Amino acid sequence: MEESLQYRPEEITEFSDTALMILWSDGHQSIYLYEDLRQECPCATCRQLRKNSKTGKLPLKKTIPLGTKTTKVKPLSIDPVGQYAYKFTWNDKHDTGIYTYQFLRNLCSCEACLPER
Ligand SMILES: [Zn+2]
Ligand SMILES: [Zn+2]
Repeated sequence: MEESLQYRPEEITEFSDTALMILWSDGHQSIYLYEDLRQECPCATCRQLRKNSKTGKLPLKKTIPLGTKTTKVKPLSIDPVGQYAYKFTWNDKHDTGIYTYQFLRNLCSCEACLPER
């Protein structure tokens, strides 16, 4: 895929208890499960953890602090980084993942986007 994609999120909203919706500047809507977003965290630590894990996935259950009511990952906050990305702060205290617009758009798994991969 080209680096020249210029999509920007117009709106980020909580779609449900477990999912996030992004409305893009071209009118496209993407829905992401929080768990998937956390799982795909692009930071160096998570990349290494995924590499080391047998399943290729993050051991998420272990990262959520004891005493937290839910075992589901959720962002505590989503902060803009410049004009190109968002920083997610997760309820497992993880906040080093910078999710660029391009990265988020590429993660969209709707029927229209999937065949393009
Ligand atoms: Zn990470
Ligand atoms: Zn899509």
